[in-house]
Amino acid sequence: MSGIFRSVDGRRTRELKRVSGRLGLPQVPERLAPDATTSMVCGYCSTGCSLEVHLRDGVAVNLSPHVSYPVNRGTACPKGWESLTPMQAGDRLTSPMLRNKHGRLEPVGWDTALSVMCEQFGALKEAHGPESVSFLSTGQIPTEEMALLGAVFKFGMGFRHGDGNTRQCMATSVVAYKQAFGFDAPPYTYADFEESDVVVLVGSNLAVAHPIMWQRLAANPHDPEIIVIDPRTTETAQGATQHLPLAPKSDLVLLYGLAKALLDRGAVDRSFVAAHTTGFDEFALHVSGYSVDRVSEATGLSAAALERVADTIADGERVSFWWTMGVNQSHEGVRTAQAIIDLALMTGNIGRPGTGANSITGQCNAMGSRLFSNTSSLFGGRDFADAGHRAEVAAILDIDVARIPDGPSLAYDQIIEGIATGMTRGLWVIATNSAHSWINQSDCHDLLDRLEFLVVQDLYADTETAQRADLVLPAAGWGEKDGTFINSERRIGPVKRVLDSPGQALADFWIFKAVADRWGCGEMFSAWSDPEAVFEILQRCSAGTPCDITGIDGYEMLDRAGGVQWPHPTGAPTPAPERRLFADGRFFTDDGRARFCFEDPRAVQEPTDHRYPFVLLTGRGTTSQWHTQTRTGRSDVLRGLYPADAYVEVNPVDAEDLRCRHGDRVRVESRRGAMTATVFVNAAVQCGHLFVPMHYPETNQLTFPAVDPYSRQPSYKHCAVRIRTPERWEVG
Ligand code: SF4
Repeated sequence: MSGIFRSVDGRRTRELKRVSGRLGLPQVPERLAPDATTSMVCGYCSTGCSLEVHLRDGVAVNLSPHVSYPVNRGTACPKGWESLTPMQAGDRLTSPMLRNKHGRLEPVGWDTALSVMCEQFGALKEAHGPESVSFLSTGQIPTEEMALLGAVFKFGMGFRHGDGNTRQCMATSVVAYKQAFGFDAPPYTYADFEESDVVVLVGSNLAVAHPIMWQRLAANPHDPEIIVIDPRTTETAQGATQHLPLAPKSDLVLLYGLAKALLDRGAVDRSFVAAHTTGFDEFALHVSGYSVDRVSEATGLSAAALERVADTIADGERVSFWWTMGVNQSHEGVRTAQAIIDLALMTGNIGRPGTGANSITGQCNAMGSRLFSNTSSLFGGRDFADAGHRAEVAAILDIDVARIPDGPSLAYDQIIEGIATGMTRGLWVIATNSAHSWINQSDCHDLLDRLEFLVVQDLYADTETAQRADLVLPAAGWGEKDGTFINSERRIGPVKRVLDSPGQALADFWIFKAVADRWGCGEMFSAWSDPEAVFEILQRCSAGTPCDITGIDGYEMLDRAGGVQWPHPTGAPTPAPERRLFADGRFFTDDGRARFCFEDPRAVQEPTDHRYPFVLLTGRGTTSQWHTQTRTGRSDVLRGLYPADAYVEVNPVDAEDLRCRHGDRVRVESRRGAMTATVFVNAAVQCGHLFVPMHYPETNQLTFPAVDPYSRQPSYKHCAVRIRTPERWEVG
């Protein structure tokens, strides 16, 4: 009996059995007993809340937040509460769709879909080599699925490049940590929110983007100082004790200025710096020129505000520094993140409760992607360019080492730009919506349309990317498959199959297996027989690395323990205590010391001028919206919690100058495109700035395609725009 086509109460359909047989998919034991409830990790953000799923006859009918899970303790945001609704939408994709000679997508069987896909990609590889086809994947699917994709595509099919949409959110933190700590290792645990006496949030609207983390902070019993560094008076800034509304992209100057101010106050943990770091003297020299006056001029902040923040950090005994997309999505994100790390290192605020240089992840499984997707890093955070690492992985997987590329994949932007140069001719897009979310959208659309063969694998056929595809593959989503996610605090938690996927939709895992079989490399992955078997393979790949998880005793332990944070090597205590990294002062560099990393700030690439006088800021709109709204847009409940149409926040003074009022429809224009939006007059944005949420399809018509030079993460947070009111739309 083919378990993947069996619902949790044992129902089957004739059609699915037929498809199962034709694909030759392996037998999978049914996992879920028809209990009254089971628990699993939410499929949206990186907080990693656990949800109790209530079952009737073995199928999910409702859910509620898990009251004893150590992450969310009985709370969930609106997205979590509404997790089941998008899965049950009536417009789910139920069969593969192939574009016909009239240019329309029409249903085909899996057999045809797999044949066409492999023939097209095979022909491109034959004619143009292993760089001619790439994949763009996601931080939204389980680790086991992304690992299988990375292995099949590179080791089996023989292609070279694949990247994830995690490039858009977390690449900066990955590079920052690797250079500073020797490994991509967010050091914290969520308890640090509750144990700090000073919390510094840089470029993070925690209350909206990570509302359950914000609740953890609100539960801090130490009456902490909360310092928010953000150009906007966000919901988080409104809850802060100190808000620094700095000029956009002046954060690196500010952070260097704070370092100098701390040096001037003697607020350096000299013994920690001497014992556990390298490069401090050079860093101190570097920041010596960042006087209060210089920083004040660059950031627009008063000297008094700067002095107060420096005093607060200097006086803090347990200072934690947190950052997210305001830092990561920057033209100099890596150095900015490292300036935050530098502040934590110089003050000895790391490895102790309530401290840390803490990057908050974006998607539910961004961390899984970072460690196990086989894109930028080889399995287990290894280096593709290291022959020793390649040999280790080849031995574990029992494959010819020559099948492992000797370098990492090209980055997302390079894969997309490769279409223009003729390198990228085929693309396989999995669970992401590039045509909506990628920066400088017009260019992206033009390039996607030039592809010789575009495959999109998703839950719905109406995403902006699927609409451009030659072939669309129907995928199962969260709640319809098994696996694990890794959250922001490195906690591995389970996801489970509690729903039937509709029609012929398959878990991404089984699609990757079927592609491997059809390509002719399926035998290489015979041991990758189901998600838990892959988890065990990844455990072996992790042995001896900083993310060693060999001590996890199968999926059952994840359930029993309330998730397990990495590392958890063989012999680690069970149940695993909640913990942070670097308590012993040893980092993952060769000499065990953390490195101070720094560089002169760079100018933004598109400053404002008389034609485009406003700085455009983008970000999350509400707790009810997720990225391109592919899922959240299908919930009536969630749709009622945010404005249906795109809006632009305008400062009251600017609104008066522009003679526009709250509710007016205006056009926001950049040198690359334009969008129509409703004016929300709001003093939360400063004069000269505009804010547009990222969730609307038009937003990336405006954004400027700058990337950080080290992480290649796009800078979504700064470009020059102007506003046209209706009477001026026709004016050039
Ligand atoms: Fe899900 Fe994140 Fe909301 Fe928690 S905070 S319920 S993980 S979307």
